[in-house]
Amino acid sequence: MNYKIIAIILFIIVFLYRQALTLLRLQSTRNPIPANVADIYDAETYAKWQAYRREKCSLSVYESVVALVVDIVLVGADLYAAWAGLFSDTVFWQLFAVILLSTLTVVFTLPFTYYDTMKIEEKYGFNRTKKVTFAADQVKEVLISLGILTFLTWLLSVLHRGLGDWMILVFAIALSAFIFGFAFLYPILSRVFNKFTPLPEGELRDKLTALLTKHGYTVRAIEVMDGSKRSTKANAYFTGFGKLKTIVLFDTLIEKLTPDEICAVFAHELGHGVHKDTLKGQIMTVVQMLLLSVLAWLTVRTKDIFFDFGFTEVNYGLAVILILSVEFALISPLLGILVNALSRRHEYLADRFAVEEGYGDALVSGLKKIVQADFGDVAPSPALIILEYSHPSLSQRFEAIEKAKG
Ligand SMILES: [Zn+2]
Repeated sequence: MNYKIIAIILFIIVFLYRQALTLLRLQSTRNPIPANVADIYDAETYAKWQAYRREKCSLSVYESVVALVVDIVLVGADLYAAWAGLFSDTVFWQLFAVILLSTLTVVFTLPFTYYDTMKIEEKYGFNRTKKVTFAADQVKEVLISLGILTFLTWLLSVLHRGLGDWMILVFAIALSAFIFGFAFLYPILSRVFNKFTPLPEGELRDKLTALLTKHGYTVRAIEVMDGSKRSTKANAYFTGFGKLKTIVLFDTLIEKLTPDEICAVFAHELGHGVHKDTLKGQIMTVVQMLLLSVLAWLTVRTKDIFFDFGFTEVNYGLAVILILSVEFALISPLLGILVNALSRRHEYLADRFAVEEGYGDALVSGLKKIVQADFGDVAPSPALIILEYSHPSLSQRFEAIEKAKG
């Protein structure tokens, strides 16, 4: 059994699965539009949306083909081992060399990311990213992911060599802590990319504060983020541990939605908070990390894998690449079906919460505007919803909101 061939076959299976999703996305552009979402786009805009979606889909096919070819060449020609041979023989430099080479896929797919942001998004009027911002974002993203991957790989090597089989448990705990830490750091990290200003006094500020305090939360700050620097798309989130919350609204959201609609969107988010959905999500994350750790353990203890890839001993960098791009890439869509099904149930309940707060109608009109701004799908195929939607379709949500109102 040659692990190199198995890896290449698995690369191809992951690739084919992703193409199947793209086909479903393309098919969704031809579905009839349900009556309750028919007023979101006029005929002309919908035709534009269909063209937009089709362009995005074909670009993603080309991009995945290039990524697949790069991955197969790197593995098939033993380039990982050859490249690592140029580095010092210490464990750290060996794993770093492999992680560094894996960013080659990012480099090769960069033209597609550029075309997507600067050409397609631009053509349809969503892009506000200047070339300088785009370049700076790409550099920051590569450096951050290089840093994170190197750290995790180094951690895996230390734990495996120090703890043997016990590494599963400790690695799972470390990964989970890392993810929760990242969620904690995200608001701080997002300040590297964006500017935040406090929301001015007024109706919106009062209503949001009232909504949160009514349910026992303390508002730490309500801030506006300059999301419009990059995109016309609208969004909002709230962060913070326990009862102390910071609300972040994209400036685009404030531009487009009325104060009541913003409150409705927030009431939905608050519903998630009150239902402890974040906690349920975190439990699922821990389960996923445990699975990832078992995969990591199985990989690093199978020395033949590394011999087949041209190494003379275990290379932790290669282990991480294989775990993420082959093993986990195969398992996580399956797990995703389950996680997304749960998530869609939570979304219905959060909508119901907003309805109970008296924001049913404002939620419907607010969501319509958000979907318009996102240029979102209004008629996704049922199979696509099952495979990858964390939210029900807009039409399904509106139907449930109507029921909850009655
Ligand atoms: Zn939600």
